[in-house]
Amino acid sequence: MTDQHDPTLRPDTLTVAAGRPAREEQAPVNPPVVLSSTYFSTGSPDGGDLVYARLGTETWLPLEEALGTLEGSTRPGLVFGSGMGAISAALDLVPAGGEVIIPRHSYHASLVAARHLAERSQVRVSEVDIADTDQVTAAVRESAARGHEPVLWVESPTNPMLEVADLPALAEVTHAAGGLVIADNTFATPLGQRPLTLGADVVVHSVTKYLAGHSDVILGAALTDDEGLHERLRVRRSIGGAVAGPWEAWLALRGMRTLALRVQRSQQNAAALAEHLRTHPLVAAVSYPGLPDHPQHERAAAQMSGFGSILTLRPVGGVEGAEALTRALRLWLPATSLGGVESSLERRRRFAAEAPTVPEDLLRLSVGIEDVADLIADLDQALAVAAQYAE
Ligand SMILES: *Cc1c(COP(=O)(O)O)cnc(C)c1O
Repeated sequence: MTDQHDPTLRPDTLTVAAGRPAREEQAPVNPPVVLSSTYFSTGSPDGGDLVYARLGTETWLPLEEALGTLEGSTRPGLVFGSGMGAISAALDLVPAGGEVIIPRHSYHASLVAARHLAERSQVRVSEVDIADTDQVTAAVRESAARGHEPVLWVESPTNPMLEVADLPALAEVTHAAGGLVIADNTFATPLGQRPLTLGADVVVHSVTKYLAGHSDVILGAALTDDEGLHERLRVRRSIGGAVAGPWEAWLALRGMRTLALRVQRSQQNAAALAEHLRTHPLVAAVSYPGLPDHPQHERAAAQMSGFGSILTLRPVGGVEGAEALTRALRLWLPATSLGGVESSLERRRRFAAEAPTVPEDLLRLSVGIEDVADLIADLDQALAVAAQYAE
């Protein structure tokens, strides 16, 4: 379809160059949006022919190719209608009666999805501290000893506790036990880390977040180098039906064109904010993998390029302070989700499904691309409001 396969291109260049239409005279430089549920066709969909848009459409292909190239995969990605669509399909790789080992601080809906699987198909779910390599190793080996081929779910950094997993070590342990590693790479983005090159078998994304980047699209993706897994995920997508609309796929690719610039700026802002908050008298705790006192700072530095744009803070005023802070913001958006150009924050425990080990007063900050001085000023005035609730 395109001529942008040059493997020597750097990742930042690929965000701009991958997934373009072929260079033909009079061809558009961007892919068209095709609105058609069905195709003139008499052939077989199994041969890759376009037959029916739930099974595949040309509108997904440029984004799938770009995502595959960016993640360093030998195959195009598979676009889904949401991150959870991709995650549900990936969890369906766990065999009935099998076992999935999952971080206790995974994205809460991923945990709920794993628990639902456990309820309906006797899948065993073990929750672990993914930063604790010894604990995860023991869980993987115990699972194998019980006769399973364990599926290790990795989120790194975790949402919202920002724990960082030792991906290469955990992949080695899991493969030695005959298991499979699935990594949710939403927080890091393919520019921050490429789990397939660190040993993961499958990568899933909420494209909704950084990849699309403008808080206007819900979309997901799954990627793998393995032909058999790719086919199983593709079939799960067709049958599960969590497929992407053409506009969403187009918007995500459009958003991805500026991923490198957005990530660069928001990471710079996040680092400056973390540094500002670290010694702030009205802040009880701040966590950011880029801070030297983050427990897995060295690990993150070794396996990621950049430390991401999510940080967490606990104001001195406790839960009431955290809620008052959220209401006092004028620039930051009091909103869920993350990875948009605009900075937003929320108290995660407002969701009942959030893990009980996440502190009640913890605020997750998604740092955007604004001028960081304005972000600091707004947060400072809101922290002063929160401090009124301090004992
Ligand atoms: C948001 C999110 C998801 C879910 O993605 P949706 O696009 O909302 O379905 C999964 N994993 C992580 C880490 C997320 O932040």
